[in-house]
Amino acid sequence: MDPRFNFPEDREARSAARARALEALLIEKGVITAGSVDTVLSFFETKMGPFNGAKIVARAWTDPAFKARLVADTPAAIAELDLPAGMAGAEGEHMRAVANGEGVHNLIICTLCSCYPWPVLGLPPYWYKDPTFRSRAAREPRAVLNEFGLAVPPDVEIKVWDSSAQIRWFVVPERPAGTDGLDEGQLAALVTPEAMMGVAVAKAA
Ligand code: FE
Repeated sequence: MDPRFNFPEDREARSAARARALEALLIEKGVITAGSVDTVLSFFETKMGPFNGAKIVARAWTDPAFKARLVADTPAAIAELDLPAGMAGAEGEHMRAVANGEGVHNLIICTLCSCYPWPVLGLPPYWYKDPTFRSRAAREPRAVLNEFGLAVPPDVEIKVWDSSAQIRWFVVPERPAGTDGLDEGQLAALVTPEAMMGVAVAKAA
């Protein structure tokens, strides 16, 4: 492996320790209060998270016209739904949806850092920010998806979308087979964050 991408095994624990130290210092200096970080985390666990994205995808699965609007003008389509206020707020500016299907599989990454559509997907997982994932997903997405357990058929094109402060992408996965009788709530339960990142498909019914 390229030595630039070598990391100590305990890198996640180290990052966590560094974040705790930084938080303690900010509290000590009076920049934030003891509850500030918990408040932000709670907001992204209860109000802004992948449950919003799942509702959007479930609507797209049941309403082709909505799906077309979602891909054409993502913020306007999202604004049609009954979702928490702030969908266009922090990290929700300039969100764009791309739909799987018709010989195309989409994968979202941020090669620069960790840009991610927080209001629909929540906070990005650790591996999304990993430089190895970021660079390899751009160079050899098919191999990387295989390692995620997702074998994209050879005749299906993989499109990799690089998120940034200008555009934050998410994926509308394909509706699983055998879900004709399910309502939107039941369909939303099949939509995982990984499916909306493109490293997995939606769960089977
Ligand atoms: Fe970024």
